[in-house]
Amino acid sequence: MEVFIEPIGRLMNEFSKLPGVGKKTAQRYAYKVISMTEAEARSFADAVLNVKKKVRFCKVCGNFTEDEVCDICKSRDASTICVVKEPKDVIAFEKLHEYKGVYHVLHGVIDPMNGVSPNDIRIRELLGRVAEGGVKEVIMATNPDVEGEATAMYIAKLLKPLGVLVTRISRGVPVGSELEYADEVTLARALLERKQI
Ligand SMILES: [Zn+2]
Repeated sequence: MEVFIEPIGRLMNEFSKLPGVGKKTAQRYAYKVISMTEAEARSFADAVLNVKKKVRFCKVCGNFTEDEVCDICKSRDASTICVVKEPKDVIAFEKLHEYKGVYHVLHGVIDPMNGVSPNDIRIRELLGRVAEGGVKEVIMATNPDVEGEATAMYIAKLLKPLGVLVTRISRGVPVGSELEYADEVTLARALLERKQI
């Protein structure tokens, strides 16, 4: 016999699909939902469905957007492109309020051990953006781990013949770490002290 009645067990099971949520936390979340008013619960559930309905990828940079093209691509200096692995890395840079250029989200890094080849991430789209002209610098801001470094080098090689300056964020960010966990001072310095590659 299950310890939890079916509807509670089912909700706990859904919560436990979230990253970092174990059984105990899933139980706490489920009990919280039970204590909500009908309107609160509806609003909660609606927000989950809404995000699936409204959020898509910007057709230029690949970041999350509600429109075809995101606000950053529409309004910022397109002569500098900061290349990142995931949408959450854009948030890490935006929090600094220092970067004025645009982004390119790769949606992954080259990782042959896990079957991710250059064709599986948005490299072709980046080359297309640079080939269109007007880009002066491409900042490689993939994570400073093995895959991130290899991806930065691979892309730099492809970009150089296009006559664009390619830089890499400095090693201020601890090697092997993820950008999203770097503190803002460290990340700002890594961006400022970028070096040509
Ligand atoms: Zn965009």
